[in-house]
Amino acid sequence: MNDILPDQTPVWQYLEDTVRQILGAYGYQEIRMPIVEQTELFKRSIGEVTDIVEKEMYTFPDRNGDNLTLRPEGTAGCVRAAEEHGLLFNQTRRLWYTGPMFRHERPQKGRYRQFHQIGVECFGMTGPDIDAELLIMTARLWRKLGLAEHTRLELNSIGTAQARREFRLALVDYLTGFRSELDGDSQRRLDTNPLRILDSKNENTQRLLDRAPKLDDFLDDESRAHFESLKGLLDAAGIAYTVNPRLVRGLDYYGKTVFEWITDSLGAQGTVCAGGRYDALVEQLGGKPTAAVGFAMGMERLILLLETLGLVPASVNGDVDVYVTALGESAVANALALSEQLRNALPGCVVVSHCGGGSFKSQMKKADRSGARYAVILGENEVVAETAALKPLRSGEPQQDVPQAQLAQALSQGLYGA
Ligand code: ATP
Ligand code: MG
Repeated sequence: MNDILPDQTPVWQYLEDTVRQILGAYGYQEIRMPIVEQTELFKRSIGEVTDIVEKEMYTFPDRNGDNLTLRPEGTAGCVRAAEEHGLLFNQTRRLWYTGPMFRHERPQKGRYRQFHQIGVECFGMTGPDIDAELLIMTARLWRKLGLAEHTRLELNSIGTAQARREFRLALVDYLTGFRSELDGDSQRRLDTNPLRILDSKNENTQRLLDRAPKLDDFLDDESRAHFESLKGLLDAAGIAYTVNPRLVRGLDYYGKTVFEWITDSLGAQGTVCAGGRYDALVEQLGGKPTAAVGFAMGMERLILLLETLGLVPASVNGDVDVYVTALGESAVANALALSEQLRNALPGCVVVSHCGGGSFKSQMKKADRSGARYAVILGENEVVAETAALKPLRSGEPQQDVPQAQLAQALSQGLYGA
């Protein structure tokens, strides 16, 4: 679990703001859920024999003896909240949320025990138009972030629960004959969650799968038609994708469309956004049957990617613009008032007033370390003359005395060229 320190938060804010702006442009509404839910909710939605529920959840009894869990993902809680507050009945919804998620995994690059997602859930639309819109929206985000060339879309349809049941039987039947040749994880999954074997990283297992029954052959007609239409909509929108017949996702609630946006620039932890359709979940959690589709983006991985590729704009740095120093009692009062005037006149400009006293030299050192482009220097003489010394800190230009009434104008010229 990581602390996100002040020098890292500007890039987090940049990513959050960019995503928020794009979601807003598609009519998404934000929802904020608690971080803790009843353990039962995750077991019933994600599935008892998934990696998350079997070994990754932070679960504890609270003082009443209720079993609670730190949310490992957002979909279950979002469905719970939307259902509980009547947001789903007879209406369509485009919702999003962001916040920390918790999974007890082996920490490594791009994989942490507390990580952050931005999640999107759409309700009441049977698709495939909304499936396509989700992917068009994510493609816009990648373009906006400069990631379009560094991400690719993999797509699959995993059909109805019935289709998956039939496929599972055939797959288990086939793989049981090769049980001893499978990797350890896959052997275990053969009894618990055989579909997950499809995305085993083991080469020998993958070779065995070449001749295994194909999920595609078990797809029901409706899922097949849905998938064909979706591909047509993506083609029409100019969204490139590859169909990966072995993409199944690790959570039980998905059906029909599943997808992942993957980057090849981060090594093994390359999935930056993943999701799919989950039409059965709302009913499974006690609501009326409600079509649903969504995805979640991993913030840490996206930030790692932006930093690795040098795509964080230079302006995203949390730097100060103007640092106001003051020497002497009357200068301090003048500095506070002058700083207020500058903030009034220059919205968006970061003005830091030196507080805490100290020598002229130490104040100037702090001004320099703040990253400010200008220092404003006030001493007793300037207070009396109603001027300020304006010192450029990042260029060789000379310091000059400016009437305080004209300081905002001079700074605007220096900072913004106007
Ligand atoms: P993976 O195959 O990488 O374990 P997942 O299938 O468990 O991913 P989801 O539950 O679909 O992932 O979560 C969506 C996204 O959240 C992932 O694509 C990834 O970007 C991010 N994510 C998932 N688990 C972690 C983690 N432990 N640390 C950081 N990011 C994560
Ligand atoms: Mg995982």
